[in-house]
Formats: sequence, structure tokens, C-alpha cells
Amino acid sequence: MEPWQIILQDSITTLDDLKKHLDCDSTALGEVIANFPMRINPYFLKLIQSPGDPLWKQAVPDAAEIRDGICAVDPLAEEELSPVPNLVHKYPDRVLFLVSSQCAMYCRFCTRKRKVGTDRMRISEKTLAAGYGYLRNHPEIKEVLLSGGDPLLLSDDTIGAILENLRAIPSIEIIRIGTRVPSVLPMRITDRLVAILKAHHPLYINTHFNHPLEITKEASIACMKLADAGIPLGCQTVLLKGVNDNAATMKQLLQTLLRIRVKPYYLFQADLTRGTDHFRTATETGMTIMRSLYGHISGMAVPTFALDAPGGKGKIPLTPQYILEKGKTLLFENYKGEVCTYPEAGESI
Ligand SMILES: *Cc1c(COP(=O)(O)O)cnc(C)c1O
Ligand code: SF4
Repeated sequence: MEPWQIILQDSITTLDDLKKHLDCDSTALGEVIANFPMRINPYFLKLIQSPGDPLWKQAVPDAAEIRDGICAVDPLAEEELSPVPNLVHKYPDRVLFLVSSQCAMYCRFCTRKRKVGTDRMRISEKTLAAGYGYLRNHPEIKEVLLSGGDPLLLSDDTIGAILENLRAIPSIEIIRIGTRVPSVLPMRITDRLVAILKAHHPLYINTHFNHPLEITKEASIACMKLADAGIPLGCQTVLLKGVNDNAATMKQLLQTLLRIRVKPYYLFQADLTRGTDHFRTATETGMTIMRSLYGHISGMAVPTFALDAPGGKGKIPLTPQYILEKGKTLLFENYKGEVCTYPEAGESI
């Protein structure tokens, strides 16, 4: 076994393990874990500093997960939008292909908590083959996003085989991998894995950091190895109540990401996923945070704030309103709140 697999093996997965390691009120947690899997690996466990801190909230089950009666099991209608199992075809030219059911940690706020890490998520040679078949029959698909679960929890050989199968389809131009491994199990980014990924360019990775304390020495090294292999790195952060829902934390996160060569890509409004209602913020909170970013920090560090519309309707950018009035002259505010004007084309200046 590789070192990262040994670390993963020592994860907290049962209520008894949890009580041994963390001082939490375990009432109802048995029921939570029976519904939604738990995995807190030793690397992430060490990052937790105190009960209820931003890292604890992401990793440790909460009784609120089973009290949530508002949200939906599959809010993005992914199952309906899957022409073959585990392949979501929502947009014209790109698909989401779920190739792994496992993650290095089961995030409490996960959009796919209905199935990740459970036997409700079935991925096999057969589902993979059906996916390749669909892609071959749909040459309009130019980009495949590998996700799961976490694709980088698969073995090196399995990852290599998936990439080779995709590269054998001429219409697939871009491969994108969504992975939380750099933030929750950075030692998984081994030289051998990097060599396999590098052989299948153009390949992009979008990783997932939610809090500055996740950007450790180990995480920086993992990102450096990937970036040195010519893999452009993006980040998809989720806006989470009590974790990163204030401007200071968000700025620090985004600026630190840029320093480890990760370009913030999306900041997501939390989805309406059952079991995650306690993480949702008002959309205005995100908009206010975005206003504190534009112009105030490097534009390179500013992500697009987006909401994934319920029912599989797609991602909608949520942008603070800078335009005050539209007419022959556009009236708008700048980042400092100063009112400015811009005469439209053809108007006298
Ligand atoms: C988010 C998503 C994509 C990718 O969207 P981008 O805006 O290109 O990042 C593709 N397919 C599905 C089903 C998605 O949910
Ligand atoms: S790593 Fe991603 S897919 Fe896995 S539990 Fe966390 S959010 Fe969900």
C-alpha cells in the first residue's frame, strides 16, 4: 500500500472512533452517520483546532443533518439529466462524468451526499464503458469533467486507464478533474500520479479549498507539483455558514490560493441539498463579500460567485449591482462607491 492509502485506512468512520478522538455531543450522530457516511482522515483531523471551528464544521457530523426537512435529495436533478448512469449531460458541449464513489473526507455539506461513499453510488467497468460509448456517440461534447466522489482516490492505474480511454475519443478536447485531494489528503499527489496526469494534456484540475487553514505546507507542495507539471489549477469554493462567510476569511483564502498557484474559479452559493440546510447563507451575504473583493484585491484572486439553479437549470452568476442607471449614458458606481458615467457609443461626450 502507498503511504496515502495507509493514512486513509486510519480514518474515523464510526461513532466509537469519533468519540475516542473528538469531544462531541454524540446524541443523534449514530443516526446521522447511518444516513450519510463519515470519514475524517488523520491528516485533516490534525487541522481541527477546537470544537465547532471551520474545519470541524466541514468534517464532523451534526445532528442538524437529519433535521433538515426543507432541502431536496438531488437538488440539481443530476439523476434525471444522466443519459447513462453517472454521466450528467446538462450543457451542450461538456459533461460531468462520475468515476469514483469515494472521497478522502466526506464533507458534511456535499451536494452529492445522497450517494457518495455509499452503496447507492455504483461505479463499475460497465458504467465507465457506457460513459465512453455515450461520449463516442456525441461528438458535440468537447470537454469531460471527471468527478465523483473524488477521481484521485482511484488507483494510479485506474486513473491512467480512464484518461487513456478518454484520449482515444477524438472529439474530447479538454479533460478537467474535480478533486478535493490537495486540501484533504495532499500526500495523494505523488510523483507517479503527476506523471500519469501530465501525459494527458490539455488537462485542468479544479480543486476545492474552503478555509485558509486548509492551505498547509503539504497542500502547497501538492499544488506546486501539479502546477509544475503544466496543469492549470482552479478552485471551487463553497460559501458556508460559520466556515468562510465573512470578507476577511474569504480574502485571506483567495489571496493564499493565488500564492500557491491556484486561481479561484467559482465561489458557490450552497445548494439545496437535504442534510445541508444549516450551511446555507443568504445570497446577499455572498454578494456583499464579492463587493469587498472586486477592485480591493488582485482580479486574479476574484472567483465568479454562482448559484447552481435547482432542477438542473445550470449555473447562474450572482454579481453585485454596480450599474445605477442605463440610458444614453451609463451611470454606475466604482469599487469605492464613487458614482461614475460612461456615454454609450454614438452619444456626445
Ligand atoms: C458545473 C457543471 C459543469 C461545468 O460548468 P462550468 O461552468 O464549465 O464550470 C458541467 N456539467 C455539469 C452537470 C455541471 O454541474
Ligand atoms: S470531496 Fe467533494 S464529492 Fe467528496 S464529499 Fe467533499 S464535496 Fe462531496
